[in-house]
Amino acid sequence: MSRTVLVNCTVVDARERPVSGAAVLIDGGRIAAVGPYAEVMPAAGDAVVLDLGGAYVTPGLVNMHTHLSLSLPGPGGESVRTLGPYELALYMADGARRTLHSGVTTVRCVAEKDHADFALRRAITAGRVPGPRIFTAGRALVCTGGHGHEGSDTLECDGPDAFRRGVRAQIKAGADLIKVMISGGIAGEHERIDTPQLFADEMRAVLETAHAWGRKVTAHAGPAPVVAQAVELGLDCVEHGYQLTPEVVAAMAARGTALVPTLLVTRCKAFFDELGVPEWMQARSLGAGPRHLESYAMALEAGVEVLLGSDMPPFWDFEGTSATVRELEHMAEGGLSPARALYAATLGPIRWLGAEAELGTVEPGKHADLIAMDADPLASASAFRSIRWVMKGGEVVRDDRAAVPPDPDPVAAAIDDMYDAFLAADRARFDSHLHPEVTTWETHLPGPLRTRAELDAYREARDSSGERPALARLAAEDKRIDVWGEVAVARYVLVAEQPGAPAERTRVTDVLRRTGGAWRIAHHHAELLH
Ligand SMILES: [Zn+2]
Repeated sequence: MSRTVLVNCTVVDARERPVSGAAVLIDGGRIAAVGPYAEVMPAAGDAVVLDLGGAYVTPGLVNMHTHLSLSLPGPGGESVRTLGPYELALYMADGARRTLHSGVTTVRCVAEKDHADFALRRAITAGRVPGPRIFTAGRALVCTGGHGHEGSDTLECDGPDAFRRGVRAQIKAGADLIKVMISGGIAGEHERIDTPQLFADEMRAVLETAHAWGRKVTAHAGPAPVVAQAVELGLDCVEHGYQLTPEVVAAMAARGTALVPTLLVTRCKAFFDELGVPEWMQARSLGAGPRHLESYAMALEAGVEVLLGSDMPPFWDFEGTSATVRELEHMAEGGLSPARALYAATLGPIRWLGAEAELGTVEPGKHADLIAMDADPLASASAFRSIRWVMKGGEVVRDDRAAVPPDPDPVAAAIDDMYDAFLAADRARFDSHLHPEVTTWETHLPGPLRTRAELDAYREARDSSGERPALARLAAEDKRIDVWGEVAVARYVLVAEQPGAPAERTRVTDVLRRTGGAWRIAHHHAELLH
C-alpha cells in the first residue's frame, strides 16, 4: 500500500496535546509517525505529500447510536420497512457511504434489520463498498410487543431462556455487543416512555450471557427505576436516559456505566416532518425534551461518561450540518467543554468498544482514520461543521477542499490588522502576520530585505535612531485580492498620514501564504508614489 505524508496541519486528539506545523506519515493504512514537520519528514522518503492547507486533523468521529436501517412510524419509515432484502442491503450501503463521507469513520449499530448489518460489514471489510468500521449488536432484544417490536431489527423474547437464546443468536451472527430494550420509548404507540418492559430475571439473563461471551450490553432506557435496576445488575451503557435522577446518575458514575444521550431525538421536529412521523409521536418526542436535557445535565454533573450518538442516521443533513455533528453541538451546549466533546466523539467511544489499540487517537500504530476541518475543535464543537476531508485506513475517501470558494475577506482582515498593529506599536501582533521567510522590497529602503533577520536588523536600526514614523493614520485602500488555494496576492494603496503633513501614498503588492489557518505575508513589495 502507498505511503502518504500529511503536512501543513495541526493534529488534535483527545489527549489534548495539539501539534501545530505537524506532519503525519501513513504507511500501509496505519499511522507510522506523527509530530513536528521537521521531525517526521526525514522518515517520509518518497511518500506522497498531501498539503492540508493549515487544517485541523482529528481522529474520525464515532457515532455510538446508529441505525442504518431506521424506520420510524409514518410514510418515510414505511418506505424503508417494506424494502425487500436486496434493496435493504443497497439502502444500508448507501447510508454507510454517506456516513463515512460525513466524517464518521466508526459506528456502533444498535438494532439493524434482518442481520443485513453483518453482510454490509463483510462488504465494507472486503472493499466492495465504502463505509465506516462497524461494531454492531445485530437485532435488539425486546419483549413481546416491546419497544421497536414492529420491525425486523428487533427479536421478541420472553423469559430468561428466550433472552439467553436471543443473546447467543446475535453473537452467533457476529454481534460485537448486545442491545436490549428495557423500557418504552418515543416511537411505540402502545407504551409510555416510562413503561418497564423486562423483568429482573430477563435482564440478568441478558447480562450474564453477554458478559460470559465477552460482549458488553447497552439498553434503550428512559425512566430512573428501570435504569437503576439494570445498572445494579451490571449494565454497560444507557441509551437516551430520558428521565434520570441524581441517585441513578450517581450509581452510573460509580459503576462506570456510560450514557449515550441522543439529545437529538427530542429536538428534531424538521426530521420528523420530513419523514411524515405521526403527530402522537412528535408530541411525545418534543414533550420529553426538557426533562431529557435535565437528565443529561445531571449525568454530566455526576461525572458519568457521555458518548456521542445521534439515533438519526449519522450522515443526515440536519440544521446545516450532519446529525452526528448537530448532536455533538447539543451535548456541548448542555455543558460539555470542546475538549470533552472531542473525547466523547472519538477516544471515549473507542474505549467503550475496546478498540483503543487500533483507533481513537492520532498515534503511531493506529489505523489512519482521520478527518480534517478548517476550524479548531478545541475552540468549539461546531468546528466539526467545517469537515472537508476524510481518510479511512490511509485512503482519502473525501476531499472537498478545492471546492471551497476563495474568500478574500480573511486576507484583507490580516492586512488591516497588521497596519493597526503598527499604529499601536504592537510588534508581536504586527509580526504575527509575517511568514517566517518573508522578503521585503520597498523603493524607499536602501535595498531588498531578503530574510526575516534582515528585516529585524533594519527595524532595530530605524527604531534606535528615532526614525520610526509617528503616524496619525495608516490604512490599506483600494484593495484588490485574489486567492488561489493556499496562496493569495493583494494589491492596494497604503496611505500614511503624519500630523500636519500631506499624506504619503505607497503602491503595495503582497504575496500571502495560508499556514496554520492564518494568512501570512511571504513577500511585500512597496513603491512610493509621488
Ligand atoms: Zn435508537
